[in-house]
Amino acid sequence: MPENYYKFELMPLKYDYSALEPYIDTKTMRVHHDGHLKTYVDNLNKALENYPGLQKLSLEDMLKNTSIIPQEIKTAVINNGGGVYNHNFFLNNIRPGRENNYPAGTLSSAIEKQFGSFEDFKNKFTNGALAVFGSGYLWLVRNRNGKLMLFPASNQESPLSYGYCPILTIDLWEHAYYLKHQNLRRDYINNWWNVINWANAEENFINCMRR
Ligand code: MN
Repeated sequence: MPENYYKFELMPLKYDYSALEPYIDTKTMRVHHDGHLKTYVDNLNKALENYPGLQKLSLEDMLKNTSIIPQEIKTAVINNGGGVYNHNFFLNNIRPGRENNYPAGTLSSAIEKQFGSFEDFKNKFTNGALAVFGSGYLWLVRNRNGKLMLFPASNQESPLSYGYCPILTIDLWEHAYYLKHQNLRRDYINNWWNVINWANAEENFINCMRR
C-alpha cells in the first residue's frame, strides 16, 4: 500500500459494494465503507488540523512512532489513524469471492513452513479470530525476526505500532458482520476465507521481506 498523507481522503473501493456477495453483503459493505471508514477519515483530519508538523508525516510513520504524537491528540490519532489504516488494509485485502481460494507463491510456502499446512494455518487463524474479545482484528504479520505470526489487536491498534509488518487481516468489529450474521462470528469468518485477496497478501509479504 502506498503511504498515506494528510489531508486524508476516503479510499475508493476497488470493487462494487455488491461484489462480495454472497459472502459479505452489500449493505454491510456500504455502511462499513461510507459510514465507519468515512468517520475515521474525518476524525483523523480533525485531530491533525492544528498540527502542521504531524501533517507532513505519513500515517504509517505516525503509527510506527506513536511516541512522537503530542499527548492531547495521541488517543485520537491512534484510534482514528488506526481506523483509517486498518480499514484501508482490510478492504484491499478482500475481493470478489471464489471457492477454493488459496494462497500461492512465496507466501504459500512460508505459511506451510511456519504452520505445517494451509489447513493448519486456517484452523489456527480461525480459532484466533474467534478468540479476539470485543472489538478488534486478527492479523497475520511478519515479525522482526522474519517469522510469520498471528497478532490479535484490540479496537483500532495497529500492528505497525508493535514493529510488525502486516500481511493479512480480518476486521472483527461487530459492524463488519452484524447485519448479516448477528452474533455468529464464526459464519462471518468462514465466509471471509472465500474473499481473501491472496494476490494482495502476497504483495504485502514481498514488501515485508524487502524492508
Ligand atoms: Mn470495521
